[in-house]
Amino acid sequence: MTAAIIDGKAFAAGLRERVAQRVTRFAEQAGRAPGLAVVLVGDDPASAVYVRSKGKATKAAGMGGIEHRLPADVPQQALLDLVDALNADPAIDGILVQLPLPGHIDEQAVTTRIDPDKDVDGFHPVNAGRLAVGLPGFVPCTPLGCLMLLKDQLGDLSGLEAVVIGRSNIVGKPMAQLLIAESCTVTVAHSRTRDLPSVVQRADIVVAAVGRPQMVKAAWLKPGATVIDVGINRTPEGLVGDVDFAGALDVAGAVTPVPGGVGPMTIAVLLRNTLISAERRENIVGEG
Ligand code: NDP
Repeated sequence: MTAAIIDGKAFAAGLRERVAQRVTRFAEQAGRAPGLAVVLVGDDPASAVYVRSKGKATKAAGMGGIEHRLPADVPQQALLDLVDALNADPAIDGILVQLPLPGHIDEQAVTTRIDPDKDVDGFHPVNAGRLAVGLPGFVPCTPLGCLMLLKDQLGDLSGLEAVVIGRSNIVGKPMAQLLIAESCTVTVAHSRTRDLPSVVQRADIVVAAVGRPQMVKAAWLKPGATVIDVGINRTPEGLVGDVDFAGALDVAGAVTPVPGGVGPMTIAVLLRNTLISAERRENIVGEG
């Protein structure tokens, strides 16, 4: 074994701690805590777990967490009305509608209804556009968490070859944008990519966001590469990532484990985004 194991759990704990300290200062100046509203529609068990842990982390960071649970058959208009009310509520700095939504609801209609300046998930097309052109906005939590781990591990990323596997709007595409902004040479691979192993072979940085257990093989990796595994796959053997972790340990320079790598970063960055939203809305200067 040669690779370092990137401890996302510890990094996320440190980030949550820094956020909590800034929340205390914010509350002193603004006379209120930052507020995050989380909306859960239906009773998908995985979504319920995510929403519960987001609520717990929000409160632990000293923020107000307001949870709205709507039945699975809620009419789309009722959900849009709730989003409108949260947009107008001055105590709410961040709005998150847990995805996926039931089939009768148009996710785009809901995502675009959220005020972009309260869109702490960064899924609104306005925020995707801001990221693409380099304007301040909100960046999706998971890829921003990956970037934080990469910069912590590697420092300056300028000039490095990065391969992002996956092109979803919530992980792959924003990850590629962030790496472009860091002056990496970025390749985005997906299900139509020809000869994925040889694409991965040239990467100094590999970000795997596919959702296929242990798809990325150790033999594909360039020796010394930094590997960020976003995948969360439930298998009979337990939770595994998109990368053959055990094999990667022998080849990579550093690799994130699953669990304990990228996963804990997502909620920590959500708290950070909510705090930044609150600071912007109250004209309080934070630390960027
Ligand atoms: P999506 O299903 O939206 O996207 C998967 C991407 O992988 C698609 O772009 C798809 O290509 C590509 N893909 C599928 N099969 C292959 C293949 N054989 N070779 C190359 N590329 C392939 O998933 P998400 O982006 O939402 O999530 C990806 C993974 O990350 C999942 O395991 C998810 O659970 C996890 N995740 C983890 C989070 C965390 O907090 N740690 C947060 C969000 C996601 P195409 O576009 O051509 O179909």
